[in-house]
Amino acid sequence: MSAESKKAHNFIRSLIEDSIQEGSHTGKVVTRFPPEPNGYLHIGHAKSICLNFGIADTFDGECNLRFDDTNPEKESQEYIDAIKSDVAWLGYQWAGEVRYASNYFEAFYEFAVELIESDKAFVCGLGADQMAQYRGTLTEPGRNSPDRDRPMADNLKMFSNMRAGQYHNGEFVLRAKIDMASPNMNMRDPILYRIRYAEHHQTGNAWCIYPMYDFSHPISDALEGVTHSLCTLEFEDHRPLYDWVLANTSVPCRPRQIEFARLNLNYTITSKRKLKRLVDEGYCSGWNDPRMPTISGMRRRGYTPESLRTFCDMVGVNKSGGTVDVGMLEHAIREDLNTRAPRAMCVMRPLMVTLTNYPDGEQETLTLPVHPQNPDMGTRQVPWSRTLFIDREDFAEEPPRKWKRLSPGQAVRLRGGYVMTCREVVRDNRGEIVELRCEYDPETLGVNPEGYKPKGVVHWVSATDSVEVVIHQYDRLFNHESPDSAKDVDFVEHLNPESLVTVTGARVEKSLAAPRGDLPYQFEREGYFFYDPESSLGGRPAFNRTVTLRDSWAKANS
Ligand code: ATP
Ligand code: MG
Repeated sequence: MSAESKKAHNFIRSLIEDSIQEGSHTGKVVTRFPPEPNGYLHIGHAKSICLNFGIADTFDGECNLRFDDTNPEKESQEYIDAIKSDVAWLGYQWAGEVRYASNYFEAFYEFAVELIESDKAFVCGLGADQMAQYRGTLTEPGRNSPDRDRPMADNLKMFSNMRAGQYHNGEFVLRAKIDMASPNMNMRDPILYRIRYAEHHQTGNAWCIYPMYDFSHPISDALEGVTHSLCTLEFEDHRPLYDWVLANTSVPCRPRQIEFARLNLNYTITSKRKLKRLVDEGYCSGWNDPRMPTISGMRRRGYTPESLRTFCDMVGVNKSGGTVDVGMLEHAIREDLNTRAPRAMCVMRPLMVTLTNYPDGEQETLTLPVHPQNPDMGTRQVPWSRTLFIDREDFAEEPPRKWKRLSPGQAVRLRGGYVMTCREVVRDNRGEIVELRCEYDPETLGVNPEGYKPKGVVHWVSATDSVEVVIHQYDRLFNHESPDSAKDVDFVEHLNPESLVTVTGARVEKSLAAPRGDLPYQFEREGYFFYDPESSLGGRPAFNRTVTLRDSWAKANS
């Protein structure tokens, strides 16, 4: 894998290095990325992916992709397919076949039977409310379930009845027998299995009992020979249970759970449940809406795998939470695109310019670099003619002080072309400016006119030889720094009404008639824009604004 993932150091890497040096770890390092297929992956998952695959890569180990699919009601094949393609797009290759926790259903069952046989699990008939009462609180111990002393033979029979579908939803659960007085609530006889009559996307109707995460996860890890099970901090309190399951079943090995802080970004939501709501309630066009913090949304917006990996490296891996400035993510994509994005010109709000001294009917072709600093990227052909378009915002009839763009009598350079001076403003009968009549200086291609340097440079396209496009000017989806922090305010209240401004009638230079789909373009002076075949409108190609040019994060952090 790439050099950048090799270099970044973090506490988990150090921990593994130490254990290898001390000899407490021998053999291959095996990690896993274990998404639940109940939604699309988001930027937080990218951090976990980069960490798990990055660690495996550093130690020449392996990383598995395992679907943690033990909640059939919320999961689907659509999510599985999307997750696989997102991981691959980020640039990672999992070891062997994709794995599914559901592949191990039979094994989970056998291990549960083992626990019952060693008097470490029992079938419990307490309802949810009673269960909560018996559980106690953080300050008070819980009480043993009345079913706790059920004879082992009965537990075995009843557990097999649970599997055989002889009870109804929720009638019984299987619980571990640990300690109802444990200060750690997770150890108070936690549920291992529950009854759910639900069709599973992988196993169909073969099962009506499904294991809980805390039971299935350590076993899945052990069955796959995972050595380091990296998870987010909210599982720290579950680690004793993770270890208990491994210690009390005959699993083939003992993986080690290590927790790290979740990635939180300001102006962003990283919860699949909430993102799903945005999709289900139509607040966005789907999981891959370019405003979504999903990997598929960011991909469609023009983010590159390189920029996401760099961002994850910049964020680092640590034990303490905190919120990262989304400006840092935007910085990472700008840095990447600045060096690689092909340049082009796009006029968002065209204003016609007639070059009165350019011969009617003639035209010429200017050869401009694809990238000003990288000659290897070649050149592009840009037609120049008597009628051009510039952006309305680049003209001011009564310019403010220090105006560097076009105004009556003032000369500007057209990027890569000639210098021109505005001589006349033409209005329609409603008083709208419809045309600027300008004179160009034929001696100024690549050189300044004698005696002075034009103050400004504006971008342009040929009126006759350019392509009409649709522009999606995307902005942050939320206009609040922490959209889901307030308990009494629904996070959708903080959606940014300006997060999508669609511009029709924009025009790009002719070289974009067949746009490339691998990298965004830098539209000069405007920002980075990525071709989006999915949203072309009436035959006009659409471009999504990936990010603007101005980098306030870099400024603030320099
Ligand atoms: P969500 O709350 O968005 O549903 P999740 O943890 O339930 O997230 P999973 O599919 O279980 O989603 O996550 C797969 C892996 O990604 C887990 O190991 C999880 O810890 C990790 N992960 C999820 N969200 C983040 C995040 N914001 N930062 C870092 N890792 C994350
Ligand atoms: Mg989860």
